[in-house]
Amino acid sequence: MGYDYDDSNIFAKILRGEIPNDTVAENEHALAFRDISPKAPTHVLVIPKGRYVSFDDFAANAPPEEITGFMRLCAEVVRAEGVSLDQGNGFRAITNAGNDGVQEVPHFHLHILGGRVIGPMLL
Ligand code: 5GP
Repeated sequence: MGYDYDDSNIFAKILRGEIPNDTVAENEHALAFRDISPKAPTHVLVIPKGRYVSFDDFAANAPPEEITGFMRLCAEVVRAEGVSLDQGNGFRAITNAGNDGVQEVPHFHLHILGGRVIGPMLL
């Protein structure tokens, strides 16, 4: 079964520049911006620029350079937000997928949360 990407989702609109976003960092393959409804002092969403519905879609189908570009942007965000372990802090990185994961926006995204102790279940 394939993954059916819906080009009308809100993150696709952000990538096309149709709606504004609070960009934190960007590279050739990925974009990082602040969540519109932050659950922690740092709540950044990192999305690939390619059309991937979910984590498993991205992991299975994205070319290696896109996966690397995405992961490197995540690392850049963690450092820029001052939440990396070597800065004496920490963070949570999570992704929701599909119905049981309660995924709201069907474009793969990683939530990076930090700036306070994050409880056991947040999103
Ligand atoms: P999900 O439940 O799919 O993992 O999370 C979707 C996230 O996207 C939510 O945390 C929600 O606040 C955020 N979000 C929804 N619409 C927008 C938007 O238009 N702009 C931004 N920056 N974040 C959004």
